[in-house]
Amino acid sequence: MIALARCQRHPGREAAARCPSCQQSFCRECVTEHDGRMLCLACFAKRSQREAVGGAGWGRVGWAVGAVGGGVVAWLFFLGVGELIWRATS
Ligand SMILES: [Zn+2]
Ligand SMILES: [Zn+2]
Repeated sequence: MIALARCQRHPGREAAARCPSCQQSFCRECVTEHDGRMLCLACFAKRSQREAVGGAGWGRVGWAVGAVGGGVVAWLFFLGVGELIWRATS
């Protein structure tokens, strides 16, 4: 049965690989390698879109790190102010 599989986009061509994501068969021309796996072009496009979103997620992590860093700076600032008040009152 597998030998009779045809490319989803080229019915005249024998399938060379099966996309693990959408389970459709494709010829060599319609698949591309991604992370050591063969993906059809449609799933590859979807995956690279999702990875672009993942990149934005990392931007959010960077923002969170910046916020925490800012919090630490504010905390040190208030420690310093607290110490000044403590020195002024004692
Ligand atoms: Zn696919
Ligand atoms: Zn094809």
